[in-house]
Amino acid sequence: AEPQPHEPTIFDKIINKEIPANVIYENDKVLAFRDISPQSPTHVLVIPKVRAGLTRLIRAEEKHKEILGELLYTASVVARNENLEDGYRVVINDGKNGCQSVYHLHLHIIGGRPLGWPPV
Ligand code: 5GP
Repeated sequence: AEPQPHEPTIFDKIINKEIPANVIYENDKVLAFRDISPQSPTHVLVIPKVRAGLTRLIRAEEKHKEILGELLYTASVVARNENLEDGYRVVINDGKNGCQSVYHLHLHIIGGRPLGWPPV
């Protein structure tokens, strides 16, 4: 079954610095860190520091509009800092069929190599 909005995930431990992460950008609202299992030369995750019940994009409410903007803006900052001018991809895996494994909303920033389309 889908995890409930209050259930902690591994990302809470990263936010609380209970487990280490390779953090490349953060402010008071968002955290960006390298994926532990990178699928490309650049593979960064961008997460809200306060999940506010937002496990999946499909669960977004009006109150989440601001943090959704922060996440996407952070993707652009990460892309610039990682020199991804040649192109990259921003991905949200949502739910079972989307292969979501961590139920704390996050963006994947994937780049540094040519990417295929459509995704498998
Ligand atoms: P999802 O499939 O939910 O969209 O992606 C979750 C991502 O989190 C995966 O790409 C996975 O490699 C990454 N991940 C899972 N646990 C950790 C961790 O402890 N540290 C880091 N840096 N990434 C993690």
